[in-house]
Amino acid sequence: MTERLPELIQLEALIESEAKIKNRISLQASELIRLPFHEQHLPIYECRLGNPAPGLPCLFLVGGVHGLERIGTQVLLSLLTSLCQRLAWDNNLQRTLENMQIVAIPLLNPVGMAMQRRSNARHVDLMRNAPVESQERTAWLVGGHRISPCLPWYRGPAGRPMEAEAQLLVDQVLKQTRQSPFTMALDCHSGFGLRDRIWFPYAKSTRQPVSRLGSLFRVREMFFQAYPHQNYVFEPQTKHYTCHGDLWDFLYDEAEAQGNPLLPLTLEMGSWLWVRKNPLQLWHPLGLFHPIKKHRVQRTLRKHLVLLDFLINATEAYTNWFSHNQEMADWHQAMLLWYSSNLQDNCS
Ligand SMILES: [Zn+2]
Repeated sequence: MTERLPELIQLEALIESEAKIKNRISLQASELIRLPFHEQHLPIYECRLGNPAPGLPCLFLVGGVHGLERIGTQVLLSLLTSLCQRLAWDNNLQRTLENMQIVAIPLLNPVGMAMQRRSNARHVDLMRNAPVESQERTAWLVGGHRISPCLPWYRGPAGRPMEAEAQLLVDQVLKQTRQSPFTMALDCHSGFGLRDRIWFPYAKSTRQPVSRLGSLFRVREMFFQAYPHQNYVFEPQTKHYTCHGDLWDFLYDEAEAQGNPLLPLTLEMGSWLWVRKNPLQLWHPLGLFHPIKKHRVQRTLRKHLVLLDFLINATEAYTNWFSHNQEMADWHQAMLLWYSSNLQDNCS
């Protein structure tokens, strides 16, 4: 019998303890699918906290898209545990969750995590699996490819439906955007760079900004002004590399086509810092993607709670800052900050 993943054990224990609480805003969980894995089946769970009535804003949280990036799942488990504990006594949180919903899929790729690999069971990188083609030259391999499933960043065969995990995420996010007037998302990853980064679409283009760039700039302004001593970099993903098949590029465009606003963010935890402080962890199979040392894991689980708390409050209060007029007012500054070369091209 294969050992059960510690992250699944923790999530299932939380779901079981919360099932005893009869309160409509407390955590409600459902099993979306069971994926075969050796002699067991690994479930993908969705957890909902807050008011289930339609017409309320939503924060959609995702972790474990890449099986090696366990810390993303652990950050979300830490948040869910904290919220469940606080709901018992925290009046402010109770009021906040009466006005919104938090939907979390903390572990989207349990088979990848169990197999200690980035991709799913069929060697497909879920974050390269959406039907999106970059119109620009992409980084070799990293940008997504169809050369061979034996190489990392494999997109899956051309013309085939999305992988079950990717399709499930698309279905759940779009179901939510259809019933919410505003949805913000945070997808937690690790494995890139020395600093923690907050990325947003597009991943498919260095030249084309998303239509809601002004609102993303507003989120950055609010966060940096409220918490000036944090250390995140907030930028479009294509500042670093362009890729095919990004699920959030696809979801952003689909939600926009349906007339439903979605602001997708990705937290990319700067894992190279953990390696620099502890080079020996490179010998560990998760070493490039996980803090490894206990005190560093604890620090990581603590520090992102500020960001997550901010996103909860910003989502609940979206009518105070999210509007077409505000978006237009912020557009130019956003272009100057992130796409200044485009402005120069247009002027020349
Ligand atoms: Zn990742």
